[in-house]
Amino acid sequence: MVTKRLKDFPLNEWMDSASFCDCDRRFKVRVNFVDESGNFGDIEYKVEEHAPDCPMRYDEETGEDISGQIEQDIAGWEYAMWTVKLLDREFTPIVSRVNHGPCLECGLLIVDVPLILFLEKGKRGELDFCHTCFEKLLAWKASYITPF
Ligand SMILES: [Zn+2]
Ligand SMILES: [Zn+2]
Repeated sequence: MVTKRLKDFPLNEWMDSASFCDCDRRFKVRVNFVDESGNFGDIEYKVEEHAPDCPMRYDEETGEDISGQIEQDIAGWEYAMWTVKLLDREFTPIVSRVNHGPCLECGLLIVDVPLILFLEKGKRGELDFCHTCFEKLLAWKASYITPF
């Protein structure tokens, strides 16, 4: 069970995110600022170098190689006061997340779109996972189901 807050990540340091471009290259992410609550702040992210045939590698208008171009955004989230069980594992749901938050399985920041399980339509928060972890969780579930 991962309950990392934004302030628990190193400041001003490029690190692995939980997200990959379509070309399978990983996004790097850096936390630039964390507010007084320790929960919200600013991040930057980039793909160091896209694969040669990745459509994201080139600027649509100029055709320039934009590998390594930095995007800026806000990140932050708060945890619920309760936990839930999913596939026999315990998770602390996320409540009030801004644009980016962590994967509750691997603990890395997600900079693309997370896979979200809303609990009671979001009233009891949500469980966010990166694509890699979500697939692993599903694979685990699939092996658990007896075919009939
Ligand atoms: Zn790419
Ligand atoms: Zn993950």
